[in-house]
Amino acid sequence: MASRSARKESTVDTANTDTSTVDADTTTDVVPAAHYEAETLRNITSFEDALAVAGMTMGKLDDAAEVLGDGFALLRTDGAKAQLVGKPMVLLEWSFYAGDFGDDFAAIRLVVKEPNGSISKYIVNDGSTGVAKMLKQYSDRTGRNGGLVIRNGFRESTYTYCQVCASAKCEVPDIHSKTKGNHIDATTYYIDTSL
Ligand SMILES: [Zn+2]
Repeated sequence: MASRSARKESTVDTANTDTSTVDADTTTDVVPAAHYEAETLRNITSFEDALAVAGMTMGKLDDAAEVLGDGFALLRTDGAKAQLVGKPMVLLEWSFYAGDFGDDFAAIRLVVKEPNGSISKYIVNDGSTGVAKMLKQYSDRTGRNGGLVIRNGFRESTYTYCQVCASAKCEVPDIHSKTKGNHIDATTYYIDTSL
């Protein structure tokens, strides 16, 4: 601690200047830890150790996603979209980006009202003939890309997808369905437009 304050006093207050406080001859120094004993640091041998030591020494651990991010969690899988079925939501905004097959994907930032009155904040990516296509048509027609209320959330539609035909419409269902894994259950999510 003593060496740290000495170092600080020896530098000019640069809060309002562009000058760096790091002197050329200090860049190769290992700055002693201000809050941790050397032995404690030496004894960190796992990620769990680091979590425990930092939490104990600093009083608590903050999660960067919460304190530096905007609190919106990315829903990573199609299955996770099941959480959005039937719940009131506000689409704050969305944008489109190109997917692997040139289709328009939609990245949607939305807030969901949970049955217990709390809210969930999500970023949802969708490239389906459901939600993404509906939003694309709406945006193309109106020029809007946000501020959409969905009273009843998403609606899910399950169907059988043929991996061989790469389509929901199997050309030869009698043959393809015989091999296990050819026909899989798939789900498309739509915006529920009912009142
Ligand atoms: Zn098929």
